[in-house]
Amino acid sequence: MIAYDLRCGNNHIFEGWFEDETAYNDQQERKLISCPMCDDTEIFRIPSTFAIKSNTSSFQGKDRINEEVVYNKIVNFINDNFDNVGSDFTTEALKIHYGVSEPRNIRGKSTEMEEDLLQKEGVEFFKFPMPPQSGPESDKES
Ligand SMILES: [Zn+2]
Repeated sequence: MIAYDLRCGNNHIFEGWFEDETAYNDQQERKLISCPMCDDTEIFRIPSTFAIKSNTSSFQGKDRINEEVVYNKIVNFINDNFDNVGSDFTTEALKIHYGVSEPRNIRGKSTEMEEDLLQKEGVEFFKFPMPPQSGPESDKES
């Protein structure tokens, strides 16, 4: 299951749970999602920080089989879908939270103090151990 932060046309913010991204897109397109506060069906997804919640227990060792596969999938997903903002993570997360920045998926580093702040501000985020980068990022040409 995935939890998404959703926003309606009247700027109400609420959380929706979906099987996966496809299920969300489908329900959103068919206007099956409505705001619990005003029944608006014009729903936008706020990809604030990292909003994957899982009820599978792969990370608790119950299902050991797929652990590595799942881990690699998540790492690839994060690399493909999340903007690496490095140590600006907290600033960006707050900007997105308050609508200053365009909502998008971001990842980066944060200190314990910053995490406290995010929690106090009600920003949802998710900590995930990323593997160390294997080399310098190759977006610079020589
Ligand atoms: Zn609403």
